[in-house]
Amino acid sequence: MTPDMTVIVDSALRGDWTLLLETASHTEEKNWAEKARCAGQVTDIFLPPSDGPREDAEEVRRKEGEALDFALGFCAACPVSVAARCLLEALRQDEEYGIRAGLLACERAELRDAWKRRVDTEAVSAALRGVTTLLSRQEREEVVARFANDQGLDADRVAQGLGVSRKYLWQLVREYRQRVRQGVTSASASERGASRSDAA
Ligand code: SF4
Repeated sequence: MTPDMTVIVDSALRGDWTLLLETASHTEEKNWAEKARCAGQVTDIFLPPSDGPREDAEEVRRKEGEALDFALGFCAACPVSVAARCLLEALRQDEEYGIRAGLLACERAELRDAWKRRVDTEAVSAALRGVTTLLSRQEREEVVARFANDQGLDADRVAQGLGVSRKYLWQLVREYRQRVRQGVTSASASERGASRSDAA
């Protein structure tokens, strides 16, 4: 990891995701990987066989030796904005395995858990207003839940905020309502779903 990424990751682990999001936003939305230091490399080198979300980092380093150093060397030389985007996309996709931004899968586990719990109310509100922004899975679910339970919200804007088509937004709403009926969505969303059902 570059020193910059160390600061960014430490900040995120303390609950402040601003640095990670801002740094990642300096990359192109779709083609960010073209500027990655690992572009064109065999992806296997970023998947150390002994690494996994519940492994011990020191043990992984001991087992993997120079092969791991070789892979980590790419991350250390990666532009910080690209490395931040790489880490952010891994969090957004909930990738369990593989090296990202110089972090082993086991070193990302705590960050993954924190990201899943993260709900930035300002980011959710911005998405509901149609501002396309980088959202965690929990935040996306919150946006869909809020939209599903508020008939005053504009579908086109919400779809734009989520970066999806209007048609796909309604599919997400159907899936959300199904989860509410099955009782498998978050407590707050369930409560909102229940109150809506009661009112219907
Ligand atoms: S941080 Fe590492 S894995 Fe991610 S894009 Fe850069 S070189 Fe590739």
